[in-house]
Amino acid sequence: MDKNHLYERFPLTKSMARGQEVIWINPDAGKAEALPFTTEDTAEAEARLRRFAPYIEKSFPETEASGGIIESPLKVAPALQAALSEKYGVDLPGRLLVKCDSHLPVSGSIKARGGIYEVLKLAETIAMDKGLLTYDDNYAILGENRFKELFSGYRVAVGSTGNLGLSIGIISAKLGFDVTVHMSSDARQWKKDMLRSKGVHVIEYPEDYQKAVAEGRKQAEGDPTCHFVDDEGSADLFLGYSTAAERLKKQLDDAGIIVDQDHPLFVYLPCGVGGGPGGVTFGIKSLWGDSAHCFFAEPTHAPCMLLGMMTGLNDEISVADIGLDGKTAADGLAVGRPSRLVGKIMKTLLDGAFTVEDNEMYWLLKLAADTEGLAIEPSGCAGFPGPAQVLSNTGYLAHQGFTPEQLQGATHLLWATGGSMVPQEEMQAYYDKGLQLSDR
Ligand SMILES: *Cc1c(COP(=O)(O)O)cnc(C)c1O
Repeated sequence: MDKNHLYERFPLTKSMARGQEVIWINPDAGKAEALPFTTEDTAEAEARLRRFAPYIEKSFPETEASGGIIESPLKVAPALQAALSEKYGVDLPGRLLVKCDSHLPVSGSIKARGGIYEVLKLAETIAMDKGLLTYDDNYAILGENRFKELFSGYRVAVGSTGNLGLSIGIISAKLGFDVTVHMSSDARQWKKDMLRSKGVHVIEYPEDYQKAVAEGRKQAEGDPTCHFVDDEGSADLFLGYSTAAERLKKQLDDAGIIVDQDHPLFVYLPCGVGGGPGGVTFGIKSLWGDSAHCFFAEPTHAPCMLLGMMTGLNDEISVADIGLDGKTAADGLAVGRPSRLVGKIMKTLLDGAFTVEDNEMYWLLKLAADTEGLAIEPSGCAGFPGPAQVLSNTGYLAHQGFTPEQLQGATHLLWATGGSMVPQEEMQAYYDKGLQLSDR
């Protein structure tokens, strides 16, 4: 499709091409469509994570309190809610929560869900194939030297803007795999340094994320002992992320928070290639169906999922095709072309997507720190304008037919996707940037 034709068929792309903030409501949301995964797939992933819990608990002492289950806190955020309402000049009825994947143990971002899951599954498969592990074993044995020696004969490779590299690198190195992370130029130096300190090979590319993934894939091809973690289409990553929903349900239940038709749940998820937010959305929609409403948030310079879904072209279109450079300070979201897997699955599940300027993310980062004491990286704040975006969208609200009572009974959940591993000085620099912007 040439540009003019695209602008004509999808007028929103004109604003996107100019780098403006936009919101897109998915016209196919709620329609029936067959999906490639089922709730059993998610349950199987959860069961696998439970088998590994004794190993995780032993290998990562910060998971002791949760018995080796890598999970993040759910935080009620009334001060942030009031501040967001004031900032955007929009009434925000209902309850605001933050899901703090920014503080997930082991790797400090949402990637600790999918990334770690995929490597654990690989380790289990290898160990079982060798006849060294059965479902009945206590998986803590995987920390023994004989397993490290076994896994050292296998390679793991991944291409990443940073956080996926951290999660894959940390868990692979811990298990004993020979692991290589192919990093794009926009990845932060501290992430490369941290990985190298753990014995991970880090290869840097002056180009973008797509190039890092392509190179990783190329080097892994032709090596049968190398497992390539394919961020652009991995089912294991997707299912690892999807386990978040059942865990969230338990946290909501414990807090006495109801989700049903009269108490809708709105979820706002920062989106890069789409696997993380897509997997979480799949899990959430499986549990709550039409009572849950999920929105993706992307940088104005890299709205790849919105573009792919709106045009129906999915991974056959990139942000470069509308003249965008894909450059953003939200390094976890600096992706020009969406996953080849996720857009199709989201076609009927996602309510919509919106874009956020980089400066806005810094501003929101500061707001989250000031109001709730949360340390979140710029990417992790992308979803924060969501409640104001949705609650000021009268067309969407009318189409859904929400009553004032339903909106009053609603829960808005901001998925904060990364931050706790960011070094103090870096976080301070982010904060200062937000401070400068809010002083203007
Ligand atoms: C990777 C990442 C995301 C998005 O996940 P995708 O699977 O790339 O869509 C969001 N936030 C942060 C902090 C990330 O690192």
